[in-house]
Amino acid sequence: MKLIYFHGFGSSAAGSTVQTLRDTLTEFDVIAPDIPVDPAEALPYLKELCRNVQPDIIVGTSMGGMYAQQMRGYKRICVNPAFEMSTMSAALKSGTYEFFNPRADGQTHFTITDEIISHFAEMETRQFDGITDAERRMVWGLFGTNDDVVKGGDVIFRRHYYKTAYFNGGHRLNVEIIKAVLVPLIRKITFTAQEIDINEIIDKLKSKLGIMCSTEELVRLYNAQNLNDKDIIVKTDKIPKCARTVFFPWGDVLGSLCTYPYKMSLTHELCPRCGSRMVSLYVSSPAWTWKGLCGRAGNMLVCPECPCQVSFDLTEMN
Ligand SMILES: [Zn+2]
Repeated sequence: MKLIYFHGFGSSAAGSTVQTLRDTLTEFDVIAPDIPVDPAEALPYLKELCRNVQPDIIVGTSMGGMYAQQMRGYKRICVNPAFEMSTMSAALKSGTYEFFNPRADGQTHFTITDEIISHFAEMETRQFDGITDAERRMVWGLFGTNDDVVKGGDVIFRRHYYKTAYFNGGHRLNVEIIKAVLVPLIRKITFTAQEIDINEIIDKLKSKLGIMCSTEELVRLYNAQNLNDKDIIVKTDKIPKCARTVFFPWGDVLGSLCTYPYKMSLTHELCPRCGSRMVSLYVSSPAWTWKGLCGRAGNMLVCPECPCQVSFDLTEMN
């Protein structure tokens, strides 16, 4: 998947946010342009970049959030967007300044002229033009509750969009907020349910766990009413180390999976061990446990690649 990141005013793609996104979102190709200082140059340049890259999501912070809002047709997150650069920004005054982060072209300073400020003002009058209902579903605003640099960005945002989220923090993102708030939001927005082949997952788990008996046999054991019927113990001959810590015996998990296949879904959460997407299973203990009043059921997160049972959320018991 592809993510385009738009940096803030006076910064560059070499900022720490880009590095944190690259380190954390390993399933994404993170593309980060140095944004031209003059909006008359920046806006067409960024639109062209998006047309060429076709990103799955665009994330912009501060001034970058203002530009991200204008990239129609893509999913995007505007983080503490600075929609009123020309009037509200204390940073946007005529003069020559030093870039906060190194620029790819080696430039160390930039100049703000009255003309550039007027270009910001012109762009701002048109920035919310042409927002459709489909657009509204694609755009998120993410706001720090203690943002003292750009105030009221959420008020402007809410005049045009409705998907907002808040985090406990200020204008600048830090590693903790990126990992705890921004990254999960990116994964949630870009996640699209895919068709999953249940038989493929069952066969993969059986093979990795070394379970030799047939799937029919697993289901028969799972549905056995009496413990005596469990005459065949599910043998595993090469169970990997990571698969040995379990909430439920794997035979019962597979029996449950075969019995409730429609309750399996691919999640947007990644395995803490290998980074693969995990599946959510409804796991109910075998029939004989319910008869014996020791039944347990709930949702389990499983990584089919490792394989491992990552978590279990108990919802029913008798
Ligand atoms: Zn895994």
